[in-house]
Amino acid sequence: MYTFCSPSRIEVGGGSVSRIGALLKSLGGTKPLIVIDQFLASPAIGLDKKIMSLLAEVGMEAAVYSGIANEPTSQNVAEGVAAAAAAGADCVIAVGGGSAIDAAKAVAVLAVNEGLAFVDIARQEQLKRLPLIAVPTTSGTGSEATRVSVITNLATGIKENPGHPSLVPDIAVLDPQLTLSLPASLTAFTGLDALTHAMEAYVSNKANSLSDLHAYEAMKITGQWLEQAVADGSNEEARQQMAIASCLAGIAFSNASTNLAHAGGRSLGAYFHVPHGLSVALLLPFVMEFGLEAALDRYARVAVALGANGHQSREVLAQAAIDIVNGYNDKFGVWYEAKAKFIPDVAAFRQAIPEMVKNALSGNGILTNRQVPTAVDVTEVFEKLAAKLED
Ligand code: NAD
Repeated sequence: MYTFCSPSRIEVGGGSVSRIGALLKSLGGTKPLIVIDQFLASPAIGLDKKIMSLLAEVGMEAAVYSGIANEPTSQNVAEGVAAAAAAGADCVIAVGGGSAIDAAKAVAVLAVNEGLAFVDIARQEQLKRLPLIAVPTTSGTGSEATRVSVITNLATGIKENPGHPSLVPDIAVLDPQLTLSLPASLTAFTGLDALTHAMEAYVSNKANSLSDLHAYEAMKITGQWLEQAVADGSNEEARQQMAIASCLAGIAFSNASTNLAHAGGRSLGAYFHVPHGLSVALLLPFVMEFGLEAALDRYARVAVALGANGHQSREVLAQAAIDIVNGYNDKFGVWYEAKAKFIPDVAAFRQAIPEMVKNALSGNGILTNRQVPTAVDVTEVFEKLAAKLED
């Protein structure tokens, strides 16, 4: 027995953001707070102004909170809640990547649950929140469709990621035109985040028929379109396909869990300030090696979804899945970017392994692996990454 959650409505297509006013009205919203990524609200991009003028067309005046400059913190959420109160907002529009959407989810909940600690969201039987529309501008996290929000608690330094069905936005708007400005490296790393969500959901021991459907299709689309989206960011069809893949992958993992690549990635990200998509992409091939035997059939199907010829033994195909992922990491400069910008000192990385292992094991995404990893297993995954970075 399981419950399957997804947004009640998903709008797809170039220009679909122009329906934002009508969508908000359908939810009963009259006074929106737009929670938007700081860069997207800068004069150079002006996406806040664009959305405000779309809302003005249906007679709505919006307030804006645009303080999210990096991955979101408890301070961002407090500022967003204060902005909602000051404006008398009765609904929230999230505009940006996973960072802005996660902040908006927390604001939509905490604006109407005074005194509730963010991390305690997961423990609520019933959880009210303001109506919420999510408009993603990256194609990776799938946050527009998930029951999770990830916020760093500045008091503890911990990246809290409670899950609750009420955190699934009411409506997701997948407008590929809003992702055209995403640079190639971010397109690649966020796309690999989507692939990791889909793959981890597919091999999770919580996978079910409905999550499989979404995960498999997400992998298939990613295999067909990610390289094109990275090679030519102006290819709107490739952008739309990746927006769909990311959303499907989000729905898949939101219902089946992520696994060790995410548990380890969160830990790595926190320690070396590696952006989310890059951190999971760095670990994924080694996590696949660790779990291959325990999920040979599933990894063989992963390879087929990603374009491998299915007329081969499952052992050959499962290995092909790892080769394909390593191929992406080579082609998209994953190893290079990590070494150049985040982990230049591999000796320091090795020293941090015990702490990163401890943190990885204390978060979620461990017990849902088909082969549940021990501290020794997780250490080996990090050691393999260290060796790769020394290459
Ligand atoms: P992000 O939202 O942090 O954005 C990354 C960078 O891209 C920012 O500098 C932003 O300004 C820029 N950007 C965004 N859209 C752009 C566009 N269209 N053009 C140009 N630049 C653009 O990145 P992300 O990977 O989407 O989100 C990462 C966050 O999401 C992390 O905090 C991670 O923990 C979280 N996350 C949440 C979930 C979930 O289900 N809630 C799942 C996975 C990850």
